[in-house]
Amino acid sequence: MQYDYIIAGGGGAGLSLLYRILHQETLREKQILVIDQDLKNKNDRTWCFWEEGEGLFEPVVRHQWPTLEFKTEQFVNKFALQKYRYKMIRGLDFYNYVLDVATKSERVTFKHEKILHLSSQNDQAKVITDSGQYEAAYVFNSTSLLNPKINTDNSLLQHFMGWEIKTSKPMFDDQVGTLMDFSLNQDHGATFMYVLPVNSQQALIEYTLFSPVVLDKDTYRNQLATYINGVLGISEYNIVDDEFGVIPMSLQKFRPSLGKHIINIGTAGGHTKASSGYTFQFIQKNTQSIVQNLVAEKSPLVKPSFREKMFQWYDRTLLEVMISQKMTGKAIFATMFKKLAPEKILTFLDNETNFLQDLSVMSSVPTVKFLPSALKQMFR
Ligand SMILES: Cc1cc2nc3c(=O)[nH]c(=O)nc-3n(C[C@H](O)[C@H](O)[C@H](O)COP(=O)(O)OP(=O)(O)OC[C@H]3O[C@@H](n4cnc5c(N)ncnc54)[C@H](O)[C@@H]3O)c2cc1C
Repeated sequence: MQYDYIIAGGGGAGLSLLYRILHQETLREKQILVIDQDLKNKNDRTWCFWEEGEGLFEPVVRHQWPTLEFKTEQFVNKFALQKYRYKMIRGLDFYNYVLDVATKSERVTFKHEKILHLSSQNDQAKVITDSGQYEAAYVFNSTSLLNPKINTDNSLLQHFMGWEIKTSKPMFDDQVGTLMDFSLNQDHGATFMYVLPVNSQQALIEYTLFSPVVLDKDTYRNQLATYINGVLGISEYNIVDDEFGVIPMSLQKFRPSLGKHIINIGTAGGHTKASSGYTFQFIQKNTQSIVQNLVAEKSPLVKPSFREKMFQWYDRTLLEVMISQKMTGKAIFATMFKKLAPEKILTFLDNETNFLQDLSVMSSVPTVKFLPSALKQMFR
């Protein structure tokens, strides 16, 4: 069977794109094949991100916070958000929400197969799996098959273990999320705790590091237990859910496409922010633009704007400073949260500041440490 679109990898990016295509009247005739080796029936991750107003996936937002905190041993910056809300979506809720709509549509076919190879020829793209081969006008790929090589010279890993705990007594303020608590041992690299209460007795607590290599699982567990007991003062709790994740923060260029007919999306398309690991909101921006192009019968390959290229340069600069250890992650974020309005930092990390605001963010960090990296990354 001939498909219009093949979505190779139906995770965060693939299903966001599918949902957007299915909601476009102009694309109602399109036949879509979604291939994923996984059934997407487990809560394999929790997405947090900040957003203005209501987004497309608002119905599955589990909780949102109007106030955030940034902490070190020296200071606490607790700030009420103005235009943004910090939001949480459980992976499983998102998958079910999209799959509920998609499995009812006669023009969407699902195959649970392992993709082995992708190729682009003349005016078609081909996907070879362990059980067959499929062709379409466009393949939207979010598997790692076309990813660049990542190593300790060009990348850091953002790795974390999270426990969602339930306490026997009310212990949390569910209106305040801790974005980063850096008051931890920094021996392995930038290390912080993330505390997101979803009600007064339940919170997601995540031990997170930006460093070259992952740790053994017991280290994350010990750090979580020590923090919950020692810092949060909670001795009685149950772990009701857990997650472990590794997100690449890389100087490497993730190719946006292979030929004209294979478009990389999600992390595979370079939509993970190199300096922070946040991806969800960039997936939304990118898949929205792809669908706009498809509706306008243009190539779905979305070229980065001049401003987006500038933000990629800022990201690579910040990451290079951390990789080369000119300044620690803790010192960089603490400097920014001490000197700048927190909402401006979030706007900057969301690629939404204007040039003057970029300058004020840049002037908050030491020029002598950032300028050599900025120049090096400018000419890459
Ligand atoms: C545990 C975890 C927590 C995260 N939390 C956040 C967060 O809070 N905020 C944020 O912005 N980002 C977060 N991220 C980063 C990022 O948002 C996610 O990784 C996001 O899922 C990326 O979407 P994606 O579509 O690129 O990849 P995925 O969602 O991983 O989707 C890729 C899909 O491809 C399938 N696949 C892969 N290889 C093959 C193959 N060979 N054949 C068939 N199928 C294949 C997989 O099964 C998967 O379904 C997190 C990542 C992880 C791992």
